[in-house]
Amino acid sequence: MASTRGGCTDRISTAPTQQKDQQRENPARSECNINDKLRSRRDFIAATGIGAASLAGTPLLQAQAARAKPQDADLVVFNARVYTVDSRMSRAEAFAVQNSRFIAVGTTADIKGLIVKGTQSYDAKQMTVVPGFIDCHNHADGTGLLYDTSVGNPYEVEFVTIDSIVAKLRAKAKDTPPNQWVEGFFFDDTKVKDNRELNAHDLDEVSMTLPVAVHHRGGHTSYYNSKALEMAGVTKNTPNPPGGTFDRDPDGSLNGRVTDRARSVFNKVGTHQTFTPEQMLQRERDGLAYISKQFVRYGLTTVHHQGGNLFALQQVRAAGNLLHRVSYESSGKVLDSMIAAGISSGFGDEWIRLGATSEHTVDGSFSERTMALSVPYPGVTPRYKGNVTETQDDLNAWIEQVHRAGIQENCHANGDVAIDMMLTAVERAQQRFQRTDARPKITHCTLINDDLVRRIRVLGAVPAPFTSYAYYNADKFHFYGEEMMKRCMAFRTFLDNGIHVAAGSDFGPGPFDPRMGIQGMVTRTGWNGETWGANQRITVEEAVRVNTLNGAYNSHEENLKGSISPGKLADFVVLADDIHTIDQSKIKDVQIVRTVVGGNISYQA
Ligand SMILES: [Zn+2]
Repeated sequence: MASTRGGCTDRISTAPTQQKDQQRENPARSECNINDKLRSRRDFIAATGIGAASLAGTPLLQAQAARAKPQDADLVVFNARVYTVDSRMSRAEAFAVQNSRFIAVGTTADIKGLIVKGTQSYDAKQMTVVPGFIDCHNHADGTGLLYDTSVGNPYEVEFVTIDSIVAKLRAKAKDTPPNQWVEGFFFDDTKVKDNRELNAHDLDEVSMTLPVAVHHRGGHTSYYNSKALEMAGVTKNTPNPPGGTFDRDPDGSLNGRVTDRARSVFNKVGTHQTFTPEQMLQRERDGLAYISKQFVRYGLTTVHHQGGNLFALQQVRAAGNLLHRVSYESSGKVLDSMIAAGISSGFGDEWIRLGATSEHTVDGSFSERTMALSVPYPGVTPRYKGNVTETQDDLNAWIEQVHRAGIQENCHANGDVAIDMMLTAVERAQQRFQRTDARPKITHCTLINDDLVRRIRVLGAVPAPFTSYAYYNADKFHFYGEEMMKRCMAFRTFLDNGIHVAAGSDFGPGPFDPRMGIQGMVTRTGWNGETWGANQRITVEEAVRVNTLNGAYNSHEENLKGSISPGKLADFVVLADDIHTIDQSKIKDVQIVRTVVGGNISYQA
């Protein structure tokens, strides 16, 4: 104990002074002076850095720390290259965990001193340890992955043929009763070996009697066969509705591609497979348990879910099958109920917490080229500036309602036009009802300009741009061109402006592998070798921070997780190689050896 204390004090941050100051400022926190036991605890935390974490932490953190005794270390990890993402001590060799939290971080020699009977110890053999990765935008649709037909690869760059898509859907159509939809998911229009657009004629080969739809993984465009178009009453003379298009060939005939809000007419026709409520719940539980396994396999320890069945989520947790932490982003009935019941963002616990709203969609898609731009899309005729899917008035009303309810507003805004609309609505809401530290969340926030960045900074808004796109979707950036790409997924600009930018994979649209995300942020080079917007490159260290601590900040949980700091939840990832020093084009292939959530192994290679 004595040697631990002596050793750590030198190496660990400014904890002792900070803690003393804190006690002076806050008499309630000085009660640990009153007995010997607690005095020795205070000495210990001063020496190990818990004091500093408590300083930044919540009362709960304090209470937890008060129970911690050094001899209680459940787990000690040593001989590691630890990147803490804690600015007070960015590098370490070892750390100790107790009651699911880090209690000390320092040198191997010091931390080994905390090993007692019953302590689990892990020699990391010079492997790299980083905080658990946090994905701030994920549709987490495990049920779809398990039970629906994927016509593309959800996780990796993989090219498929149109024939393979048709074959998969034909097999599906065989057991499909009349009038019921045959659907394919995870289609990617630039990952097709045929090197052309999928069209209605292709899908007519699946069936002429059943409605067929293939949904782009981006989530904003779908492709329909002739039967589906006929059932929906869409003809070549049907005008485009607001916020969407029925795409046409040069001769004016429908080609089957339908964008954004124009797709709503298809929701009114045909049937879908039906399930009893119990079957439905079982499928949702299966899906969540399945995707949770996938997340930890890729080193994700917290994921912001876009809705999903909250009841099923709790059941999966109760059954011990929830391996990652969830920031649950609500919409529809859940959001309405929160507002009605007076439940704000932050309600919940360390495993399932109500976060921001789910993305309220303002415009179209970056990958599918329907996002709302202030200038026309280069080379597109007729002149097209993308889809705005919401009026300013409706957006103003929605944001104000959520904002007043103490719920963190979150909009899907890709194009500069949509980001401007969201900021306008938030500025208006703040004028009517001032809320400090509201952290309005901008999902995607893809195309920025100087004025938008200034307003984001003033509002303290938190963008979550695409992560894996720089690598995965480099084959689409020529549609925008280099000048625009310099202002897309602008991690460099956000960091330089002191904006807490986080990571948002947007799975299904983007693969959620944080290694792919980090490689793309650092290199801006895609799978095809093309580099776009190199001015927005950030360092590996910055990219790790974006994927960890900034993710915690995104949901107001930066005092609870996101770095390897005493007092925080013991969520971390062991990597076989050091992503900070390895060839940057190989970051995405670095093996994830172990994922630990709350001190427990949730994945082991
Ligand atoms: Zn999304």
